[in-house]
Amino acid sequence: MFSLKPKSEKGCDITSQPKGHDCCSVQPKGKALCPSCHTKAKGVLAKTLEHLLIDKTKEKLTSLEGFYFCKTPSCKVVYFKDAIQLTQKDIMVVVGHKEGATPATVCYCFNWTKEKIQAQLDETGKSTALKEIKEKMKNPGCACEILNPSGGCCLGDVSKVIKELQSS
Ligand SMILES: [Zn+2]
Repeated sequence: MFSLKPKSEKGCDITSQPKGHDCCSVQPKGKALCPSCHTKAKGVLAKTLEHLLIDKTKEKLTSLEGFYFCKTPSCKVVYFKDAIQLTQKDIMVVVGHKEGATPATVCYCFNWTKEKIQAQLDETGKSTALKEIKEKMKNPGCACEILNPSGGCCLGDVSKVIKELQSS
């Protein structure tokens, strides 16, 4: 499996930036519009695709650089670049961002799913997901850039999911 190395102290300042920080990985700058849903998508590193694409798909691609990740739940496109569109069938893990994903994983480093968060909410009315993820980000550290299909930190997604489930 992967080694989850602790981050340097200043590398992961999660307390002052509760959501949307990008300490876990340096994602490529710039956004592109998804050719299918026309929503802005963030770039992903080649190593994200290297880890998550199935071999058959990788063999067909000349380069893993320059792809974007579409997180729109109703859109079937997961990664795209120019005329190339990759979907769930090209990816080794279930992409929890997409509608109907089971399990609907939100934190790939520490395995938090919507199902698990819902179970906590049913039982206690609140979720310990954010607190536990933040603690584990300090030690042992996270590996979002190779484990999360988005290539980025999950904290924003996790807090959104908690809010959504709480209000439903
Ligand atoms: Zn899309």
